[in-house]
Amino acid sequence: MKITYMDNNATTRVAPEVMEEMSPFMDTLYGNPSSMHSFGGQVQKSISQARERVASALDCSPEEIIFTSGGTEGDNAAIFAAINAQPDKRHIVTTRVEHPAVLNTAKYLETRGYEVTYLPVDDTGRLDIDQLRDSLRQDTALVSVMYANNETGNIYPVQEMARIVKERGILFHTDAVQAIGKFNLSLNSLPVDYLAMSGHKIHAPKGVGALFVRKKAPFRPFIMGGHQENGRRAGTENSAGIIGLGRAMEMASQNIDQENARLAGLRDRLEQGLINSVKNTRINGNPDARLSNTSNISFKYVEGESLLLMMDVLGICASSGSACTSGSLEPSSVLRAMGVPFTYVHGSVRFSLSRYTTEEEVDLVLDNLPGIISRLRDISPFCEGREPGTVSPKYEN
Ligand code: PLP
Repeated sequence: MKITYMDNNATTRVAPEVMEEMSPFMDTLYGNPSSMHSFGGQVQKSISQARERVASALDCSPEEIIFTSGGTEGDNAAIFAAINAQPDKRHIVTTRVEHPAVLNTAKYLETRGYEVTYLPVDDTGRLDIDQLRDSLRQDTALVSVMYANNETGNIYPVQEMARIVKERGILFHTDAVQAIGKFNLSLNSLPVDYLAMSGHKIHAPKGVGALFVRKKAPFRPFIMGGHQENGRRAGTENSAGIIGLGRAMEMASQNIDQENARLAGLRDRLEQGLINSVKNTRINGNPDARLSNTSNISFKYVEGESLLLMMDVLGICASSGSACTSGSLEPSSVLRAMGVPFTYVHGSVRFSLSRYTTEEEVDLVLDNLPGIISRLRDISPFCEGREPGTVSPKYEN
């Protein structure tokens, strides 16, 4: 069966050019980059080249890049570096729409005596800059705000927020996992202290990422052991992955504007087609600042998991904004933070496109989805035992 892959915010296909560049490092060039011999030294050289490629794409210095295992590690390393360097400051600011890599770390820190302010969002998922300003305190150790949201594609005004936070002398971290490769991002002019990114969202393999740490920002290793990464991240390097990440970054920073225009065209075709053919449909997110590859759509009185399963039969891959398992309904925390009504939130689907997505694939979804939705609405719109339109008090809006 042909796969129509529209789940690129979950992960992406490794680009053939990236595979080609990585392959010798899993085969003939398998030396340990820390070894004294030149066989390992060649690998070290290629890692340095990858660091330069990442730094050049982000407009920062190579010494400010630490290779990690991905976005989650980068987020954790940044947060713990910031708080461990300022033991007297026990307050953190983040948002209600962060990825679990930040949100669950913040929740863990609450159990360790930290106070966390979770900034709310409006019904399109926008943050209020004044609320950020008001949340800052003498004892604020760190502000962590994502650059772009994985579920809605919303882009946050990190430039402005970081400026406000830095004026108060507070450290700023951004989770840029979904933003990298989608903007010409310049760390030379973006006043953040830490920025985390991940390889597998930009056509590099899983299990590799990078953390930017600005020269003067405090940093202590999150993973301790050997002296790799200049003593900042222990463990034998994932050489092939790092080299793949370098190539993927180089590719991602080419033709960004043309690719964004193409993706926005496909996304709009998908959204408009669905709005025209399916009643009671809403697009979730900020129409004025959204990633061009991401579309989060809710279909009223439809159960998102069933929708995904029926699309799966046709080889269409997307993600749901809710999980309905064994009678417990857990809608997406991001959509709940935006106050998406109960009758819509469970029928939310995220389509996320990539450089490999074609117009034919979008049309395949448009040809099939309206029929699937109408069949689902004909049978039972919600999970077992729940009448259409009935609202559990827990989720009442
Ligand atoms: N942050 C965001 C916004 C993400 O979308 C993801 C992955 O979905 C992560 C962090 C975690 O990245 P990784 O899978 O590389 O650990």
